[in-house]
Amino acid sequence: MNLKYENVNGWKVIKKMNNIDNVMNYSKEYINFLNKSKTERLCTREIIKLARNQGYISLEEAVSNGQLKSGDKVFAENRDKGVALFVIGEKDIEKGMKIIASHIDSPRLDLKPNPLYEDSNLGYFKTHYYGGIKKYQWVTIPLALYGVVFLHDGTKVDISIGDEENDPVFCINDLLPHLSSDQNQKKLSEGIGGEDLNVLVGSIPCDEEENSTVKYNILKLLNEKYNLIEEDFLSAELEIVPAGKARDLGIDRSMVMSYGQDDRVCAFASLKSIFETENPEYTAVALCVDKEETGSHGNTGMHSKFFTNIVAELINLQGDYSELKLKRSLYNSKVLSGDVNAAYDPNFAGAYEKSNSAFAGNGVILMKYSGARGKSSTSDANAEFVSEMRRIFNKANIVWQTGELGKVDQGGGGTVAYILAEYGAEVIDCGVPVLSMHAPFEVVSKADIFEMYRGYKAFYNINL
Ligand code: MN
Ligand code: MN
Repeated sequence: MNLKYENVNGWKVIKKMNNIDNVMNYSKEYINFLNKSKTERLCTREIIKLARNQGYISLEEAVSNGQLKSGDKVFAENRDKGVALFVIGEKDIEKGMKIIASHIDSPRLDLKPNPLYEDSNLGYFKTHYYGGIKKYQWVTIPLALYGVVFLHDGTKVDISIGDEENDPVFCINDLLPHLSSDQNQKKLSEGIGGEDLNVLVGSIPCDEEENSTVKYNILKLLNEKYNLIEEDFLSAELEIVPAGKARDLGIDRSMVMSYGQDDRVCAFASLKSIFETENPEYTAVALCVDKEETGSHGNTGMHSKFFTNIVAELINLQGDYSELKLKRSLYNSKVLSGDVNAAYDPNFAGAYEKSNSAFAGNGVILMKYSGARGKSSTSDANAEFVSEMRRIFNKANIVWQTGELGKVDQGGGGTVAYILAEYGAEVIDCGVPVLSMHAPFEVVSKADIFEMYRGYKAFYNINL
């Protein structure tokens, strides 16, 4: 028995276990998933498509069948922006579930309800940023437009511009360095302001005499392609995200660089691991929710009753429903809150406390608590559950590490963990370290995402 605790580099273990090909294949699938999942809606549709391929049926189909039994696989969709996957366990659901919860929304720029305007020969969209972004990172990079528009007659139109090879892209401009002496004096957080995030979308004026503006020409083009009129913007949900695909990073291709890895990286691992979970002892759940980046509010966020309602439906389909049974099933559950954590970044060493940080390449993280200042707002996992997860991971030879989110009093953050803890369930944060988290392009280690997938599978399948 080694008396000293030492971090292990995951790549060494992966090589020893001859898993390099498996890591690279997993990453390819993951990259493919990211490229199809640039928004929470697209991600939900992709997850449902993958689940259907694995033989999952919808909750509505299960309801019309009238029953569910152990081994059955079912998914429940939440308004095109979230989804929960279940494999019914051998034990009564009252004994608890094994839940991995992650979020599929990512920081971005939403179009304002009345977005389109023109100034000095240039057409722009006004935006309102979503989630915690560093605004200066969003200028002078290619941007794409995604979302849904409802036409005046209620017809839903999906919009996607900027990621196909022949698509145009968009951008937000920055001031040239030659004229930046005032801007350079500003604090980093004020160099680009919230109302400066205006997206450049056109510059040709319309050739109609009464409507000879750039704005009108853009409206005309949108109308020709989508039947859209300006009022349709007011009821639309349109999101500006970075244009460009997820890519391998590094000469050794050991990392992935992409938009939206927080937190689709955990969602994908929960999918891959639940797809390889057959006839579990406890009902296995992969729960993918929206709105985490803005506080988990709204009917597609973790605070909504969606999940408890769905569990109630499942109980009903497996026999007699009672509220007591529902409460017991939630209280007895064990939850991994799958979310990313900060990877120690040697370029910004001052923000971290090295001996309690997570390192890229050192595997999946068990984070006992998040929060800010004096652990404010964290659910703080019980030692009993941390110990259980540690033993499960050790039993399955998972490369894992601990990780605090930066130095005490340096900042902080949270996940959906505390919301699931409100049911009384045992909850711990468990995800991967990310470099440049919340930036337009984030970086993860392939070693870590593979160990997370293996760790999640161990959680579903090993019971101590
Ligand atoms: Mn997250
Ligand atoms: Mn986040």
